[in-house]
Amino acid sequence: MKITVLGKSPAWQDADGACSGYLVEEEGACLLLDCGNGVFSKLRRYRDYVAVDAVVISHLHADHFLDLVPFAYALLYAPRQQSVPVASWPGTDSPARPKLYAPRGAAETFRRVVGAWGSEDLIERAFDLVEYGPDVTLDVGTLRIAFHEVPHFTTTYAVGISSTNGGGRVTYGADSGPNDALVRFADGADLLIIEATLPRPEHEGPRGHLTPGEAGEHGARARVGRLVITHISDELDERWAQAEAEKAFGAPVLVAHEGAVYTV
Ligand SMILES: [Zn+2]
Ligand SMILES: [Zn+2]
Repeated sequence: MKITVLGKSPAWQDADGACSGYLVEEEGACLLLDCGNGVFSKLRRYRDYVAVDAVVISHLHADHFLDLVPFAYALLYAPRQQSVPVASWPGTDSPARPKLYAPRGAAETFRRVVGAWGSEDLIERAFDLVEYGPDVTLDVGTLRIAFHEVPHFTTTYAVGISSTNGGGRVTYGADSGPNDALVRFADGADLLIIEATLPRPEHEGPRGHLTPGEAGEHGARARVGRLVITHISDELDERWAQAEAEKAFGAPVLVAHEGAVYTV
């Protein structure tokens, strides 16, 4: 299984960057994990968008789903997706309509967002939308996907991806505050991709994000093989973040960069 970082910014993009998006590929399976603002453009660098089998959304925050909008426009209006010849495209009887797995309530959220300016069912027309709940398992080609709820400011799921083809197991923590659920869910994974958003813990209110040190500690408790910290702004010192995470993890830690590829 190959994971390519398409975007790793938190809610505001790095210079030339994109918010959360990870391309997960294995022979016969192509999955886009989160589709935050900026991700569709990055996706096009690495993979033809009509080849994406499924998109999985971890939670309904803008930085994890907003680029479903341009992706939907491409699927519905690109010349290559039309049934009749347009320009140099020959026309197709089977336009791509990827699966879209998103948390319960997603259809209503998408309708409210897109309905602000256009036909509110844009995303549902472009994708085959399936809403999922807690502790669901589904298959995309040879990839088995599992979900587990983690604490954040809205209903949010960590995503476990394992290969039924002899490949490894990856856990993506999505966004979360400190918690035991993610530690249990990620236990023994070959790779954990975990957010490390904060330079210091939130001063007040419920916790919704992690510091790099906390991310490293979660990785150590989950006894994962490799740890990647992500969702870090380019306005923070990544060497500081890496050192903090490594101190807690007790081993080298990778900091996600756009274009980075991890093989498990
Ligand atoms: Zn986020
Ligand atoms: Zn979030």
